[in-house]
Amino acid sequence: MKTIFEIGNDKGDVSGVKDLGGIELGDFLPESLLRKEKIGIPELSELEVMRHYKELSDRNFCIEKGFYPLGSCTMKYNPKVNELLASLDGFVNLHPLQPDEDSQGALELMYNLQEKLKKITGMDEITLQPAAGAHGELTGMMIIKKYFEVKGELNRKKVIIPDSAHGTNPASAKMCGFDIVEIKSNQRGQVDIDALKEVLDEDVAAIMMTNPNTLGLFEENVLEISEIMHKNGSLLYYDGANFNAIMGWTNPAIMGFDVVHLNLHKTFATPHGGGGPGAGPVGVRSFLKDFLPKPTIEFDGERYYRNYDVKHSIGKVRSFYGNFGVLVKAYAYILMMGNDLKLASADAVLNANYLKEKLKGVYELPYDEPCMHEFVLSGEKQHQKGVSTLNIAKRLMDYNCHPPTVYFPLIVHEAMMIEPTESESKHVLDEFVEIMLKIAKEVEENPEIVISSPHCTPVKKVDETLAARHPDLTFKG
Ligand SMILES: *Cc1c(COP(=O)(O)O)cnc(C)c1O
Repeated sequence: MKTIFEIGNDKGDVSGVKDLGGIELGDFLPESLLRKEKIGIPELSELEVMRHYKELSDRNFCIEKGFYPLGSCTMKYNPKVNELLASLDGFVNLHPLQPDEDSQGALELMYNLQEKLKKITGMDEITLQPAAGAHGELTGMMIIKKYFEVKGELNRKKVIIPDSAHGTNPASAKMCGFDIVEIKSNQRGQVDIDALKEVLDEDVAAIMMTNPNTLGLFEENVLEISEIMHKNGSLLYYDGANFNAIMGWTNPAIMGFDVVHLNLHKTFATPHGGGGPGAGPVGVRSFLKDFLPKPTIEFDGERYYRNYDVKHSIGKVRSFYGNFGVLVKAYAYILMMGNDLKLASADAVLNANYLKEKLKGVYELPYDEPCMHEFVLSGEKQHQKGVSTLNIAKRLMDYNCHPPTVYFPLIVHEAMMIEPTESESKHVLDEFVEIMLKIAKEVEENPEIVISSPHCTPVKKVDETLAARHPDLTFKG
């Protein structure tokens, strides 16, 4: 049968076509759905459209334009060859509903990626379905919930979360119906073991931890925490957003975690933040295998296949099998890096410590300890002069620098969370230090120029609340 595009004009509009070659429009769409009037989209030439989008993209800041030290987001370089591989014909034109026999290549890639992620995380089983880190958290918490349901421990309704956690942690646990118990960090920015013991009882299902945590500090007591939790019959969930600090050096299995998510778009070099969709694979220990989303991707020694026979599966968490293009890019990155993944983490940690040492003193460093791949400064000193961290962030844009993550984690006043990643040279890091010191000097000598920034960006200071509450996203002809 001909497609509607073959018989209509090049927009698929068949309204002006007299001879449909015996095919009725109703063959494609019911009469009630057929458009009777013109849609009213703008008629522009290709050149005009191109200029419009080029102009928009020029306004945007991206890793290709300058330094992007957005903490917790791992804005590393995304090798362009990954894009080439993800757009190979065989991948792009494969329909997800094609049978396993027709999809052996794609299934093999997914299976191999699972095997690599098992090695990297130390987990026994992996699902690639979740579309982002937060989605991985939700998936992981659903698995934990179902595990206790099947075990008959319906009383386990509480999830413990440190106060340094990313907001998605309590949100994901809450969405699964858990009650959140927050515990304070100790003076060194670590999980306070005494505070943990105080809230621990037989109703606790799990603790959600990030290690290194969002202060960029390694949780030194993680083994003791794991022992305490397991003794209590509870599980440990690992938020893997900070995996870039530990690749090849240690892993969440060694640390005693039971469920793990990774952010492929952070650690494994696939574009994110307006630049592309993500992927948040979840790894579990073998005793949780039967709870994974289905289908799982398996290999029987001869062929790769989708297995829908998963005993206690929480069901599907994503249409089809996840964001496949992201999986291709992450797989390419892992193969390309090989054992150098370990080096990447080492360089990420080195770069962060270098910046931290150069900037502390001028900016307050609330937790003055060796950091992992990121560190958190406080703009408190500058705040006392009437210049907020938000002002400093905006001023950085005048110097062609993306701001760090600001006002997170919540336990640091006027927080600036800086993550340089391994991709940057010493030259770029030194330039950033120079800019940060210059801004600190401006705060002393001419605070107004910082407060009224940005001055050099195509879009000046925006009303973020208005933009969030009343987004204007549609074309009005
Ligand atoms: C980014 C991040 C998440 C959420 O991941 P998404 O992929 O953005 O959904 C969770 N925890 C931490 C610590 C993060 O940095």
